[in-house]
Amino acid sequence: MSAHNREFLTLLQKAAAAIGDHAEEVAALDQAIGDGDHVTNLQRGLETLLRAAADWEAMDWPDLLQKSGMSLMSSIGGASGSLYGTLFMAMGKALKAPEGSAVSLAHGFAQGVQAMKQRGKADVGDKTMLDVLIPVAQAWRAATESQSLPAVTLQAIAEAARAGCESTRDMIAGKGRASFLGERARGYLDPGARTSQLMIEAIVRHLEGST
Ligand code: ADP
Ligand code: MG
Repeated sequence: MSAHNREFLTLLQKAAAAIGDHAEEVAALDQAIGDGDHVTNLQRGLETLLRAAADWEAMDWPDLLQKSGMSLMSSIGGASGSLYGTLFMAMGKALKAPEGSAVSLAHGFAQGVQAMKQRGKADVGDKTMLDVLIPVAQAWRAATESQSLPAVTLQAIAEAARAGCESTRDMIAGKGRASFLGERARGYLDPGARTSQLMIEAIVRHLEGST
């Protein structure tokens, strides 16, 4: 197995473990302001991807991400399946830079998030996972452009995710099922924002241990 395939599987395992550890909390949030299936959808998607990705030995990062996006899209289902699928596929596509040009991971991630915004027709303030992913993309790019140390970059990413997730608590939703609830959605974190933040935090913690 190649080094980056092994690293990719490790990151996925960390993300899946964090979701497992908080499954009840997320289920309660989605029962309150969604239809209750978000965490089981995501767990099924991550398990399916972990099994599939074990065989993707010789793949480079762009191909790993593109294949993962296709897997997530078909196995998670719901709104979050198509959105996470779009993130990975668009990021993989962006990283497939033409010969000789290097595209940073931060830029690739920002491209992926941009594609999600278009797919979901959502932006910051709509009480969705984009309230986490957009600030994370911005913080990551800013840290990369100012050539921050890896530890500083990781810290900035984790903090943007945490603040973004927390920001959804007092919002009413502009998109997704919670938007049907109007004022009744206020007071709850968005389930998709919370799962995005949990996965990012788990990955950051793992990477902090290896920098
Ligand atoms: P569904 O709402 O189809 O049951 P899930 O339960 O899998 O989908 O995921 C719900 C999450 O998806 C929400 O908490 C929210 O973060 C995210 N979401 C829903 N609609 C959108 C959208 N249009 N743009 C971005 N994120 C969205
Ligand atoms: Mg749902």
